Amino acid sequence: MNISTYLSQKGTVSPEFVEKVKRIVGEDNVSDRESDLIAYSLDYWLYGVFLSQYGSLPSLPSLVVSPANREEIQGVLSCANEYKVQITPFGGGSGVHGGAVPLDASVVLNLQRMNGFLHLEETSLVAEFESGIIGANLERELNYRGYSLGNIPQSLFCSTLGGWIATRAAGQFSTKYGKIEDMVLGMEVVLPDGSFLDIKPEPRRSTGPSLKDLFIGGEGTLGIVTRATVAVHPLPEATLKQSFIFDSVGRALDVVRLILRGDARPAVVRIFDEAESERYFEDIGRKVTIIFISEGDSDFVGLNGSVIERISKGNGGYSHGENPADIWLKKRFDIGLGCVLMQLGGVVDTIEVVSLFTDAARLYGDMIASMYAVEGAIMVSGHFSHFYPEGACLYITFVGFPKDPFRYYHDTWTAATEAALKNNASISHHHGIGFWRRPFMEQEHGVSGMELLRRIKSALDPNGILNRGKLV
Ligand SMILES: Cc1cc2nc3c(=O)[nH]c(=O)nc-3n(C[C@H](O)[C@H](O)[C@H](O)COP(=O)(O)OP(=O)(O)OC[C@H]3O[C@@H](n4cnc5c(N)ncnc54)[C@H](O)[C@@H]3O)c2cc1C
Repeated sequence: MNISTYLSQKGTVSPEFVEKVKRIVGEDNVSDRESDLIAYSLDYWLYGVFLSQYGSLPSLPSLVVSPANREEIQGVLSCANEYKVQITPFGGGSGVHGGAVPLDASVVLNLQRMNGFLHLEETSLVAEFESGIIGANLERELNYRGYSLGNIPQSLFCSTLGGWIATRAAGQFSTKYGKIEDMVLGMEVVLPDGSFLDIKPEPRRSTGPSLKDLFIGGEGTLGIVTRATVAVHPLPEATLKQSFIFDSVGRALDVVRLILRGDARPAVVRIFDEAESERYFEDIGRKVTIIFISEGDSDFVGLNGSVIERISKGNGGYSHGENPADIWLKKRFDIGLGCVLMQLGGVVDTIEVVSLFTDAARLYGDMIASMYAVEGAIMVSGHFSHFYPEGACLYITFVGFPKDPFRYYHDTWTAATEAALKNNASISHHHGIGFWRRPFMEQEHGVSGMELLRRIKSALDPNGILNRGKLV
């Protein structure tokens, strides 16, 4: 497979553009040093990471520009329109589908200098941050004051608030606290033409379509989020950890469905299939494990725990205590094994999709089988996380040691996505689309859905300067 069929190579921007941008953001904040260009040429899209292991890169930016505030971004975007220069917004660079990869030798707009905590309003339980703040720093600011956002993705230490918003991210405690779209109440956005929009924070509004939803999941194609006001929660008073063992994924899905049908709202719910249980929890072996973590007011936590125990035990589960939840809590940010396998020449990646409960067990079986059928596959395993009363996110990890790693990677993704679509699932729950999943967008949204998205894009960005080649 020839990578140039997918991606473009390095280019240049005019010296006048560079001079103008230097005047806007300051000379020290514009770089064309090779080390910077290489550092900002990749996100966590593993195809790009494999390329770099084989001595190549998906694409090099022409320039890395690091603005300090909204006004500087407005200036850079106005200039980009004048000189028809492509701009790629870059948060933490932890996106997994090439959303922040600078295609067409675009200029990378690095947002990490805009990383301030702005204010906390305790009466209304809201806080405002600049969008380039790294997740762990955002949580630290809140925890120190007795609060949490409740959005704890595995990439907490390497992703930004702006990136979470742009990709519609979901954290590990999402079954209680919701996803990023439930947390963002207001935001400031610079539009592609350099103008800006201030969406005031309210718990809800009935004032026409929700404008903020154009940018939550916009993947940097429709505007650049510069700050956001988010809902926060007091740190929990009590925590309860439980686990139950089942004989099949289908039975475990039924149990969680019944628990969520009532009023119980654990913060963390994860169903690990046999392969993942065996890998994670040595003393459980090849069984299906569910862990639950409930947190909040101690009375409610106790009641949650009783409902979970009654329904789990009443449906064939037996309790395995707190230990599996403790093990998961310890390992939850660890990606060490994947890195080691890649160093050894393996291909490793993850795919997340979402479906209704009606389709979930069949979807799981079909995706695992179709991914195992790809030549070179040695391990495919899954867990369900991010639950709703209506359905859940299925998250699959695959490992292969194929003859042609690029072919294997492409074929596994295609097999998995086709199995997901065939089973009525959506092709992404929280990782987004970026560059890599774009070919499947028409099957996801239909021809008229895609046409609408294209029309919105060209109305907001007629010169096509913002993150071209991604999402739409
Ligand atoms: C080890 C690992 C674990 C992960 N775990 C999770 C998880 O638990 N949950 C989850 O949801 N995701 C997870 N991810 C995926 C990734 O962390 C998320 O997609 C995250 O939201 C990306 O944030 P970022 O700041 O790194 O964005 P980037 O990768 O820099 O950018 C992502 C996209 O957003 C755009 N963008 C960035 N900032 C802005 C902005 N301010 N305004 C407009 N557009 C912007 C970029 O152009 C790009 O299209 C994980 C990734 C890794 C590598």
